[in-house]
Amino acid sequence: MDDVGAPIVPVTPDGHLERVCLRNLLASSDEAVYFKDLANRFVLVSRGVVQHHAERLARLGRAEEAARLGPESFIGKTDMDLVDEPVALCWMAEEQRMIETGEGITDVLERDTTDNSGGWFRTSKGPLRDDDGRIIGTFGVSRDVTGQVRAEQAVAQREAELRAVVDSSPDAVGFYDRELRYCYVNAKAAAMVGATPEALIGRTDAELGRPDDVVALVAAGLERALSTRQMCEVEYSVGGGGRKSWFQVRMVPHMDAEGSVVGVVAATRDLTELKEAQEVLAHQALHDPLTGAANRLALMDHLQGALASLEREPGRVALLFIDLDNFKLINDARGHDAGDELLVEVAGRLAQATRGSDTVARLGGDEFVVLLERLSPSDDAYLFADRVIATFSDPFSLGDERLRLTASVGVVVTSDSRAEPGELLRDADLAMYRAKQKGRDRVELFHPMLRGHARAAKRLAADLRKAVVEGQFFLLYQPLYALGDTTLVGVEALVRWRHPTIGVLGPEEFISLAEELDLIGALGSWVLDEACGQLARWKASLDLGPGFYMAVNVSTRQLASSEFVGQVAAVLEANQLGPGELCLEITEAGLLEERARCGETLDALVAMGARLSLDDPGAGYSSLAYLHAFGVNTLKIGRGFVERLGGGTANASVVAAVVAMAHALGMSVVAEGVETESELRKVTELDCDEVQGFVFAKPLTAEVVAGLLAGQTGSALTA
Ligand code: C2E
Ligand code: MG
Ligand code: MG
Repeated sequence: MDDVGAPIVPVTPDGHLERVCLRNLLASSDEAVYFKDLANRFVLVSRGVVQHHAERLARLGRAEEAARLGPESFIGKTDMDLVDEPVALCWMAEEQRMIETGEGITDVLERDTTDNSGGWFRTSKGPLRDDDGRIIGTFGVSRDVTGQVRAEQAVAQREAELRAVVDSSPDAVGFYDRELRYCYVNAKAAAMVGATPEALIGRTDAELGRPDDVVALVAAGLERALSTRQMCEVEYSVGGGGRKSWFQVRMVPHMDAEGSVVGVVAATRDLTELKEAQEVLAHQALHDPLTGAANRLALMDHLQGALASLEREPGRVALLFIDLDNFKLINDARGHDAGDELLVEVAGRLAQATRGSDTVARLGGDEFVVLLERLSPSDDAYLFADRVIATFSDPFSLGDERLRLTASVGVVVTSDSRAEPGELLRDADLAMYRAKQKGRDRVELFHPMLRGHARAAKRLAADLRKAVVEGQFFLLYQPLYALGDTTLVGVEALVRWRHPTIGVLGPEEFISLAEELDLIGALGSWVLDEACGQLARWKASLDLGPGFYMAVNVSTRQLASSEFVGQVAAVLEANQLGPGELCLEITEAGLLEERARCGETLDALVAMGARLSLDDPGAGYSSLAYLHAFGVNTLKIGRGFVERLGGGTANASVVAAVVAMAHALGMSVVAEGVETESELRKVTELDCDEVQGFVFAKPLTAEVVAGLLAGQTGSALTA
């Protein structure tokens, strides 16, 4: 019963089986299968051919015809009967060529050209041979692949669109596979690595020679995106030293249709500009834009930190409140650019004078604050403040001019970690204000009493305005004697304020304030009138020696005023005084500050014949020759120097040199503030010309001076 190997379907010798198979196949195949004879006439067609033509006819609106169509409808027909002539001719020519050459085509993608349905076929055609190999016609198989082609086209289209987006992205975009090799990069990504896009494909970052740390960081991010299937982000910077560049890489896992991760899309963004802008903003938030010093916010922050650190480690913290003297004058006279230039220089000097751990801040205008952190027990904040003042002793350069600037400094020191920063700053400010009041160019230490002073100062300002209007001032006169024969050669008018409740106030208490409040012009011209009027009255009633003069102190603000020369001329004229009978005492700091405007005034005064005296030049004798050139003909050396004469010989020789120099320039020298006989001897030895001081007389009332003048006693009268 062994029928293994027996055919399942009986094979008939006349090929009946093949006919059966072929008929079944053709009757059921959706593919278009056809056979044609040598004259291109259809011999056999499959169901697919019928279907395809029926659909075409239906599209052409020939539905009835389509319904009648069957395989037999094709037999004996050519393509000429079925489709438009050009298409038919084209097909038939192709079939004839196959008949001639015996060569077919296999699996060719063809567009359906029979109408504009936009269909696509995949076609194989060839010569039809009989059992002896002779060509007896042609056959063809066509499969409708329209759906597939359209889907492929859509995918290609989407890919092209995506590529366009990616290529035009400002970010460097790269697709990595699971081995972290590039599969696709945009031009930007290639440029970042410094190669062409093609050169990157199939390679890793390490193979491309990117920096090790960047490779490691990015690779770690890519691995994380691959394993967690989550987007991840890394940031890195390259190029230290000069300009640093910052990058951010966002890595998104890339999945296939089944949802398995096949790679990572990495978009690298250049953050350099953003980072730099952030840095600039952060800097701006904490720094003064002009000088680059810390601003108030930063100062308060550092102060808070410094105070907090006192809790951990006891010590002291100091604040130096620094305000430039007469800065407004410079700013007004030279313009803001010049003022700005000076402020930048001041900030630079302060930074140099401090330690790295200290903070130099500018609060605005000409106010600076230095915060000294962690003062050791041996550090003396007061000495430090002196050092700050000393940084101003070198002249400042403005263009090719040199200018002397001074500052008033208030110091507050605390060891209390709970001190309130705002209050400390206010205290330092009060101390600075005190330094201003005491004549500027000095350091004052904060004392709780100053809080009361501040309130008083506020009241005083209101009172002073009233005093100018109501004329609450009077003058005292301090005699000046010739050193040789102690004759009374002149007097210096010194203003006093008879305050209605406080009593008599000296100029130290209110001259600065009057300058600040812009009252000095009015006050100064009253002094000038009163002093010249007094001299005229003395002249009328007494027999004054020739050359007797009235010295009047003049504030820089007055000199800078365009009206001053006229005022002097008018007052001399009104009192019938010669210009030599009035000596104007001016201060050096003011002169240098206001050289341009004061220069004009001084020239006019000198031309008029007025006497000019340089009052208390302080430390700045260096410019003696220069001042002499201005027409200043008298030098007054102040109490500070006279006092020093008692000290070491070095001090004395400095003063001696100054006196000698003044004499060499043809100036006369007045020693003022001479209190003792010993000082008097010293200034005599120095060959000073005139002397003024308590050793002879304090500032006196006009009546007492009149008595002196009448008697010319020259004795040590005191008021
Ligand atoms: P100054 O022009 O240097 O005036 C001399 C000051 O030294 C006067 O103080 C005088 O009283 C004081 N003095 C005189 N002899 C001695 C002495 O032997 N020992 C000591 N310790 N001091 C002595 P005063 O009157 O308080 O004036 C202070 C400053 O106020 C003046 O210094 C001057 O710069 C300014 N001042 C006074 N009156 C006026 C004024 O009318 N206008 C302006 N702008 N400033 C004035
Ligand atoms: Mg004076
Ligand atoms: Mg003086």
